[in-house]
Amino acid sequence: MIYILIKNIIETTIQNYRCELCTSTLNEVSISLQKLSDTSIDLECTCPSCKTISHVHIQVADMKQAMMNANTKIINKNAIKSEDILKISEDIAHAHTIEDLLR
Ligand SMILES: [Zn+2]
Repeated sequence: MIYILIKNIIETTIQNYRCELCTSTLNEVSISLQKLSDTSIDLECTCPSCKTISHVHIQVADMKQAMMNANTKIINKNAIKSEDILKISEDIAHAHTIEDLLR
């Protein structure tokens, strides 16, 4: 379940991402996972147009709370497993387009 949660958060981040410099959207997956913990996700986004690198920090705790309010069954144990981190990293590494990642 946590894997799906992380994936959702990253998907939302990509969809809402705008480059600070040229306001491009991420039409290719040019993000890498920098840090993943129980409370936060750090992503590095590279703008496909101007190659500006920005770091995105996401508080997972807030998202968890929101989702727990929506569906109390979705979160159990509140722990991110190492295989979840591996899976999401692999997904990002193997994705060529946003569509690949959202699949
Ligand atoms: Zn840009």
